[in-house]
Amino acid sequence: MKEALFYEKLDNNKVKCELCPHECFIKEDSTGICKQRKNVDGTLYTLNYGKISSYGNDPIEKKPLFHFRQNTNVFSIGSTGCNFSCKFCQNYSISLEDTQTIQLSPNDIINIALKYNSPGIAFTYNEPTVWYEYMYDIAVKAKEKGLYTVMVTNGFINKEPLLDLLKVIDAFNIDLKSFNNRYYKKMCGGCIDPVLESIQTAAEKCHVEITTLIVENENDKLNELEELFRWVSKVDKKIPIHLSRYFPMYKLKNPPTKKATLTKAAEIAKEYLDYVYLGNVF
Ligand code: SF4
Repeated sequence: MKEALFYEKLDNNKVKCELCPHECFIKEDSTGICKQRKNVDGTLYTLNYGKISSYGNDPIEKKPLFHFRQNTNVFSIGSTGCNFSCKFCQNYSISLEDTQTIQLSPNDIINIALKYNSPGIAFTYNEPTVWYEYMYDIAVKAKEKGLYTVMVTNGFINKEPLLDLLKVIDAFNIDLKSFNNRYYKKMCGGCIDPVLESIQTAAEKCHVEITTLIVENENDKLNELEELFRWVSKVDKKIPIHLSRYFPMYKLKNPPTKKATLTKAAEIAKEYLDYVYLGNVF
């Protein structure tokens, strides 16, 4: 276990984690919402430091990032845990349930990436925010070796940790799951404002692309999607957006999103944004 960054010690051996906007108050022998940060004797520890649940040498376009280091393979790693609880989670076995892991040091990861001849490392599969200390340590070493770094995230992170990360992460794909706070609460157990702030902050400093999973009967209202596109265009109309088709997964049994909805949404998005892509459709 490694001591966590970004927390405050409180009276009676309690702590307040300040890594993400949940800002969990955690009593002794308990973990926060993400289940990856534990209070032991009044000190907050990260439980998943160095724990790898999944890895692969993926095309960068699979992240998806279409406008960053095209046609390269990126060594991609994931761990366990998430600070959201999306009912349609595509990776619920590693994000929301216990899973098997192997232990590797930051140097191990760098050496494997170099062995694969990967020009970069991506933190992905589960939510990398709840893996912050390990991701940061690897990213610092990756920059020393001239490797690029990518984070695929829900954007639900506090500003101070994000600003530190921006010094060592080159590109982000950030989910903007909806433009409706009720949706964020009901479907994901989060809220939208910190995500919008993360997108704005990251877009000022590095390459950002956005993914929106359009879920049948949930966030597929075209007027609401139009608001989302308008907002992104005000940040930067050159931010690429990936509109992804939902299929039933985990706890959500709604039917797959109609292709016609995706196509109409893309037409509207193109009125506001320069780069619009459909995912999971063809
Ligand atoms: S990172 Fe985990 S423990 Fe910390 S505030 Fe977020 S959910 Fe809570």
